Amino acid sequence: MPRLAYVNGRYLPHRQGAVHIEDRGFQFADGVYEVVPVYQGSLIDEEPHLDRLERSLRELRIPMPAGRATLKLIARELIRRNDLRTGLVYMQVTRGTAPREHSFPAKVSPTLVMTTRQTKPHREALLRDGVSVITAPDIRWRRCDIKSVALLANVLVKQKAVEAGAYEAWQVDDQGRVTEGSSTNAWIVTNENMVVTRDASQAILNGITRLSLLKVIRAAGYEFAERPFTVAEAKSAREAFLTSSTSYVMPVTRIDGAPIGDGRPGALTMALRQNYMAYMADRQEAAAGQDA
Ligand code: PLP
Repeated sequence: MPRLAYVNGRYLPHRQGAVHIEDRGFQFADGVYEVVPVYQGSLIDEEPHLDRLERSLRELRIPMPAGRATLKLIARELIRRNDLRTGLVYMQVTRGTAPREHSFPAKVSPTLVMTTRQTKPHREALLRDGVSVITAPDIRWRRCDIKSVALLANVLVKQKAVEAGAYEAWQVDDQGRVTEGSSTNAWIVTNENMVVTRDASQAILNGITRLSLLKVIRAAGYEFAERPFTVAEAKSAREAFLTSSTSYVMPVTRIDGAPIGDGRPGALTMALRQNYMAYMADRQEAAAGQDA
């Protein structure tokens, strides 16, 4: 069965999915995207993801390409046609196609692309040993709260991580404080067992996994704080981990080569991962019930 993509009203074989060379996403990175996890056939946290998509678009004054109900319908249709069980739905919206001119075109309608990707379960070794991260200066623009397709700085820093044999790069602001990873949010657990992640501001993307995990943490009664932390604090933390729609909750056991805590995935981190997986299973059941 061929994998299908949705492009501006049509379901096409993935390989034939294309936008115009004058699309402003291609010309200027003038667009945004969303990545919604799919777990056992259901979209997880679809509403907060769509909320963030709407917000990103509003911040850039790009209209919604279709109503929310239509976006939901297309996502479900793509999941069904691609027989997707566990993976991701990518939604990408640009300002549209128009002759190349920096300012907004007078007449333009947004481009909408949706694709799916199947993902494999996380490798056993990652959860057993944890992953390593490097740190690098955050060279991005000042609106990292917008999920823009302008990801060049994220691409460069992730490449740095890959070349260093690391899973992710934690970006660091001018004050030596960790902002976030190239496509993940950064967390530590202090020696007092306080879970810490940077507060949501224009310096980071407010991850939906971050928000859901904060709910899980609150419900379980763990102590937490939303505040910046330095690289030095992270290196002397008891535990560290990262979160995203792809990585869920992933233990970090090395930062710039130095072991965190005893160098093994932390007990609280793994408890949070379990709690988060239970949360996903719960959301999956609720979503499947609603779609039935
Ligand atoms: N931070 C950045 C820069 C990202 O690109 C992402 C996800 O792509 C995240 C954080 C994590 O966000 P989410 O949990 O919504 O996947």
